Amino acid sequence: MSIVPVFRGVIASFLLLSSIVGCQSSPTISVPNATDQKATLALVNGTLIDGTGVEPIPNAIILIAGDRILAVGSQKTLAVPAGVRTLDVSGATLLPGFINAHIHRGFDKANLQAWAQAGVTTVRDESASSAQVAGLKTFRAGIEADPHYARLVSAGTMLTVPGGYGYLYVSSPEEARQQVFDELDAGADMIKVSLEDGYAGTQGLPKLTPEELQAIVEAAHSRGRLVSGHITQAAYIQPMLEAGVDDIAHLPYDYISPATLQQMVDQGVYLTPTFTVFRNYGAPVSMLVQNLKRFVELGGKVALGNDYGGGPGDFELGLPLYEIQSMRLAGMTPMQIIVACTKNAAHVSQIENEVGTLEPGKFADILVLGGNPLEDLQALTDLRIVIHSGMIIRNDT
Ligand SMILES: [Zn+2]
Repeated sequence: MSIVPVFRGVIASFLLLSSIVGCQSSPTISVPNATDQKATLALVNGTLIDGTGVEPIPNAIILIAGDRILAVGSQKTLAVPAGVRTLDVSGATLLPGFINAHIHRGFDKANLQAWAQAGVTTVRDESASSAQVAGLKTFRAGIEADPHYARLVSAGTMLTVPGGYGYLYVSSPEEARQQVFDELDAGADMIKVSLEDGYAGTQGLPKLTPEELQAIVEAAHSRGRLVSGHITQAAYIQPMLEAGVDDIAHLPYDYISPATLQQMVDQGVYLTPTFTVFRNYGAPVSMLVQNLKRFVELGGKVALGNDYGGGPGDFELGLPLYEIQSMRLAGMTPMQIIVACTKNAAHVSQIENEVGTLEPGKFADILVLGGNPLEDLQALTDLRIVIHSGMIIRNDT
């Protein structure tokens, strides 16, 4: 986002609250299938939080084979085969690598390295320049073999109408469809669209028609790709939902009606809050918090994203702690926050079959923390080891 209303509201300061969370489900224990794969690395004695939201497994074992997770379980169900390199992580907590599902400047090797080192092993770039998207396949070829770089998911270049908020212009449903296919052909993983009036809603920027928006979503879905919809005003959530977008990028800074919130929940549309960019613009944080709180109370699904580089001021490059603190302020439990940062962020990035939870077959993107974030979220800052695609890329132990 680079246009949001300028407010002079009070910027809330946050206290990180700690609490112990009760979880709804019982632990999942996965055992390896009969397979020829041999474990190459084992993590033992840690407490496992697998990202699905189920209760942690104490004294867990994770077996890794190459870049993938081979097996996950407790010491009662799983043993480490002889001769496998083993890391004893007693007292530590194991989590999936975090995913920041709303960043910009992802086409930057230094940024991707910084994210990976901080445990953000995947990022979703929510709009890059047309030139960057044109070079996406080449850029990706230069990073994807090296786990020192965070995995990059690209939503291409944000679509809008001439003079509107975004960078790639369409003037008809036919043109909209073609632009979607061109972006996907260039290597974009998904599509980003906007409905935005501009500063505090006063600019009245031109916007996509319902027909154009629908054409975009239908074209993306016809290729099996998701669409992320940018809004900053509650009034534009409804047309996004009518068109069938898959996630709403940003909370609105004004009041969301109960009917709209319920429709988001009913349609299974995710929300990526991006508190940080609103803070940087001086928007009213209390309304953002209330909107998120009401969405979560209805059972809405939240994904982590801070809009890194999408506005003025400082953004955390690495773990977006301000987002996590703001989710806590909105009443999300530490477990709900962890799911937002892992499984749900993988879902909006359309890579939930590959990453986001610690389950057999997925990429071995694993964080080892010194403490337990369910007891104190501050433990998220006590990062000891980062494993990305099975490779230890950071080890502070
Ligand atoms: Zn953005």
